[in-house]
Amino acid sequence: KMKIMSINAGSSSLKFSLFDMEKMKVIASGLFERIGIEGSNYSIKFKHKKYEEELEIKNHKKAVSILTEKLTELKIVESLDEIGGIGHRIVNGKDLFDRSVIVDDEVMEKLESIIELAPLHNGANVAGIKAFQKILPNTPMTAVFDTAFHQTIDDEAYLYPVPYEWYEKFGVRKYGAHGTSHRYITEKVKEYYRKNKKIISCHIGSGASLAAIKNGKCIDTSMGFTPLAGIMMGTRSGDIDPSIIPYVMKKEDKKIAEVIDDLNKNSGLLGLSGISSDMRDIIAKKEKGNERATLTFNKFVRRTVDYIAQYYALLEGVDAIVFTAGIGENSAPVREAICEKLKCFGVKISKKENEKHEPFIKLSTPSSKIDIFVISTDEELMIAKDTYELIK
Ligand code: ADP
Repeated sequence: KMKIMSINAGSSSLKFSLFDMEKMKVIASGLFERIGIEGSNYSIKFKHKKYEEELEIKNHKKAVSILTEKLTELKIVESLDEIGGIGHRIVNGKDLFDRSVIVDDEVMEKLESIIELAPLHNGANVAGIKAFQKILPNTPMTAVFDTAFHQTIDDEAYLYPVPYEWYEKFGVRKYGAHGTSHRYITEKVKEYYRKNKKIISCHIGSGASLAAIKNGKCIDTSMGFTPLAGIMMGTRSGDIDPSIIPYVMKKEDKKIAEVIDDLNKNSGLLGLSGISSDMRDIIAKKEKGNERATLTFNKFVRRTVDYIAQYYALLEGVDAIVFTAGIGENSAPVREAICEKLKCFGVKISKKENEKHEPFIKLSTPSSKIDIFVISTDEELMIAKDTYELIK
């Protein structure tokens, strides 16, 4: 069976892509939104047409039953039996999973045991698996973890300099995220050079993380115990001094959950600029001379460069730096500003190449000491490929 579906279930959403694995192409894709909330709806893209409907979708199981009905009704598949496997994205696999796995009872048990670590995300991911198991009990399911690629990081990198018992008793350590994307980038770079290189992968979208990769393995990454850590993001702060939290709680008479919410949802590009969490809006305002927008843009560039410099030393030099995800793939001004700051490492880019919009671009000039690439990431394809390999 050459059709594989990849699923990304969020707390109130469910995204799917159905792949033809022979052609490595998407057959159909879609999104169920506002699950369990008023105004729930879905949209499905198939053969250049978009099918949309607003209707009550009480829970993930309902979303899955609508999805499976539509797959046959719209003749996306003749029969659901054509789907050989379903790969589920799992946000946090803790240190229990260092690769993708087939979902069985034991895996399900482990998944349930770590919901607590990322309640919103992991809870929804598990709900997604269960919904599919009820409706398609005979179709193999796999779990693909955002954290798995980072399991090769050593203790020196994953431990925090805090009481060791926090790690031993509660699993307080770095887990990272975006691992499926960083792994995809690692494979693409290897295909290009036909061997492993020292890579810094910059996944910069609304969520953002960097990974340092050597011999095809991740040796450090910027996200931490949760995705709140690391560089500045669309609405997340990235690393800050934790003492700010109790101080602001007192000043604003807020509960801890509210301040953490501020750090997750009201910080980053949005918080610093007071304008938007979208880099396009920041750049538009910056071009009109807005000072806060300029500050925000510069801070974003600086935080990214901070980590690139750190990883340059960690990797003892770098062969390739890759930009990917929403900002990395689409924003020539951000890439240009970052590369400008990397001149001291011998980075040189071609303005003309940087302005291109293609899934694979080499921006650096032949005399650049580091190769600079833009590569479009594809986490869904990676999930489908893992699933295909596992069920074979
Ligand atoms: P997610 O982490 O939600 O998957 P994406 O990787 O799709 O996010 O990135 C979305 C972000 O990419 C947007 O919020 C926006 O800031 C940024 N973005 C998309 N296109 C552009 C562009 N042309 N220029 C600058 N930023 C862009």
